[in-house]
Amino acid sequence: MAKICLCLTAKTLKRNLEILNKYRKFADLTELRVDCLDDDERLYLRRFPELAGMPVILTIRRDIDGGYFAGGEGARVKLLASGLAYANADSRHNFAYVDIEEDFDVPSLEEAARTFGTRIIRSCHNMQGVLENIPAKIKSMQRAGDEIVKVAVSVKTTNDVLKVLQASGECKNKEKILICMGHYGIYSRILAERFGSIMTYCSALSESEIPGASGQLDVQELAELYRFKKITKKTKIYGVVGNPLKTSVSPWFFNTIFGLENTDAVYVPFPVNSVDDFFDIANELDVRGLSITVPYKETVLPSLAKQSAAVKLIGACNTLFRDAAQEKKSADEPQAIPGWCGENTDCTGFSDSLLKFIGKKNLKYIKTTIVGAGGVARAVAAEIHRLGGKALILNRTVHKAKNIASQYNFRWGGLDSHGIETMSKFNDIIIQASSAGMEGYEPQPGLPDEDPLFDPLELYNFSGKEAVMDLIYTPPVTPFLKRATACGCKTINGYDMVIRQACLQYSYFMGNDIPHQLITWINTTGANAWNKIQTG
Ligand code: NDP
Repeated sequence: MAKICLCLTAKTLKRNLEILNKYRKFADLTELRVDCLDDDERLYLRRFPELAGMPVILTIRRDIDGGYFAGGEGARVKLLASGLAYANADSRHNFAYVDIEEDFDVPSLEEAARTFGTRIIRSCHNMQGVLENIPAKIKSMQRAGDEIVKVAVSVKTTNDVLKVLQASGECKNKEKILICMGHYGIYSRILAERFGSIMTYCSALSESEIPGASGQLDVQELAELYRFKKITKKTKIYGVVGNPLKTSVSPWFFNTIFGLENTDAVYVPFPVNSVDDFFDIANELDVRGLSITVPYKETVLPSLAKQSAAVKLIGACNTLFRDAAQEKKSADEPQAIPGWCGENTDCTGFSDSLLKFIGKKNLKYIKTTIVGAGGVARAVAAEIHRLGGKALILNRTVHKAKNIASQYNFRWGGLDSHGIETMSKFNDIIIQASSAGMEGYEPQPGLPDEDPLFDPLELYNFSGKEAVMDLIYTPPVTPFLKRATACGCKTINGYDMVIRQACLQYSYFMGNDIPHQLITWINTTGANAWNKIQTG
């Protein structure tokens, strides 16, 4: 079972101990990053294992390997030797592991470590990208059978992560640590067990210290939300595909539900730069269900084996699950992986939330402006049409607004003065369905580099009579929603909608409806917990 290693990167041993004591219940072992200690603190590093009271890795990471040790190799060897000296007969008072790089060549030090039961982690860090042949690298790095090989590579794309996962499959029986550093590698840290790694490194991110490496997760989140220690080869994997994902409520929602139900499942953020490459990873990991979010709701369509009627009508998909019929067939053909079925739960999530908000059963005689013409705007337009409403669609890229509007005989326009003027006839309800204002959103290459936090309707003057819905829920109040509220409009953000659509996703993933008491919990206690997470 993979273990959780808490990286300690404070400047003093005292502070490292404070952090360790606060989070020790979440970790199995800890790594003392001596390179982060002040110079005078380094003199006392030998005391740390006894003070820590849990297995400690001794690491002095060089700056070329992504660490902070800028001194010469002689000084580093001396420090390592001082950490391994005066070995105690009680091995718990010695460092349990020492991390030394593949090019480190001081046999006497390695011999001393072995004699006193300190295991060698033979490491290689590639900050530039993925290594060509990881299995060969692992084989060549290991100098003795008792060494644990650690390979940490910077992943810049989803394809890089795929290469690491495939390499891991090629050396299944080796005791190793494999790490995909960086944003795209986050899920390899949560799914360390499935990536064939004996441990995952994390940090206490709520503390002020720097994380041990790029892409590390918070130790408490890893242990409590993702229930890391319960993830085995049998655990069913679900997740959300998108970019960015920092603000998605879904990992919190599903993992909380799985935890409350005690279901052997985990829901993971999959930040990806290519959905095609990601499907290879999903097949390797046997992912059972996926939420699809910005910006892939439309690009995912060609990869689907089956599309629901809603997906076909809307032209966007936010839910993927494996086809049960195909699954039965494939029981006789273990190699065949059932294809993905695409559903759209944004539509019902949106209309249920909107109708409750305005206290109506349909949208007859109601005129609406929809801002945005991306994946979710497609679902919004379809639902407004189904409920008998009329709409104007305004979008930065006008032809996209036109495409959707033509399907339903709606009006369209740009976010310019002409579009805003037309709004005077479509302002009973305003639905903000663009990404403008979403936290963490970065404009896509090739599009105008506007401030993503800007108010897309800044040219529009609210009368105060409009019902205003912003589908964004992180932050809970966007600049647009703030202005609408200040003008006296009745407002709602996208939290209610996202929970409603996630409850529907649950039923596609699990094959049964979400238990009623869990919905009640999510709407009461859960909503408070999520707000607390968001406001830090
Ligand atoms: P897409 O990437 O498919 O579409 C993004 C849309 O936002 C496009 O219309 C795009 O315009 C527009 N846009 C992006 N940046 C700007 C900007 N700076 N100024 C004006 N318009 C901009 O995303 P989705 O449709 O999937 O999601 C859109 C938003 O809705 C997201 O913020 C998401 O969080 C939220 N959402 C909420 C849900 C909920 O349940 N509450 C569910 C789904 C989404 P252009 O065409 O010109 O690029």
